[in-house]
Amino acid sequence: MARYTEAVCKLCRREGQKLFLKGDRCYTGKCAYERRSYAPGQHGQGRKKVSEYGLQLRAKQHISRYYGVSEKQLRKYFAQAEKLKGMTGENLLRLCELRLDNVVYLLGWASSRAQARQLVNHGHVQVNGHKVDIPSYRLKPDEAIQVRQKTKEKDAYKTIVESNASRPIPEWLDLDRAALSARVVTLPERSQMAIDVKEHLVVEFYSK
Ligand code: SF4
Repeated sequence: MARYTEAVCKLCRREGQKLFLKGDRCYTGKCAYERRSYAPGQHGQGRKKVSEYGLQLRAKQHISRYYGVSEKQLRKYFAQAEKLKGMTGENLLRLCELRLDNVVYLLGWASSRAQARQLVNHGHVQVNGHKVDIPSYRLKPDEAIQVRQKTKEKDAYKTIVESNASRPIPEWLDLDRAALSARVVTLPERSQMAIDVKEHLVVEFYSK
């Protein structure tokens, strides 16, 4: 994804909800959205009326920013989601949920999806016993994920994991906290995905 170099909290304020992009800070009173829950910029508090296209665009941007995927990647996922059985919008979200970086974040092995992506990029995560350094790697049911042994032993890394230990783990993942290993039990259902977005708007956006 092209690097976004501005303050990421602006993205939450733009989307009108918390996207949890800054790790621990998101869960404290320092969260910028908690303090200023209106869009950034000079007219942030004035813009109220949003067109139908605007809503669709916002929903698309929301997904892209939440999962940290580029426009190009999201379009690719959409094309794949259309070919799968079931609801296209839900399929699209499922493809995003199954990304290795997202799963590493959900398991509490990183404080943010950005940190999870870095962890994967730097080769700290294994799938079925082999290093996988591709954050977009799509996990399948029954695949086993674990943090590399050398990484597990580092004090700095233990601190990160401990700080995320209270985060609830979705039912479609089976986590062994002590071993820092997990398994994908099944494909995630829509109700098991935490993202708060109207995915049908994204389908409408891409179907034009
Ligand atoms: Fe969003 Fe986290 Fe910043 Fe709050 S602290 S605005 S949730 S990125």
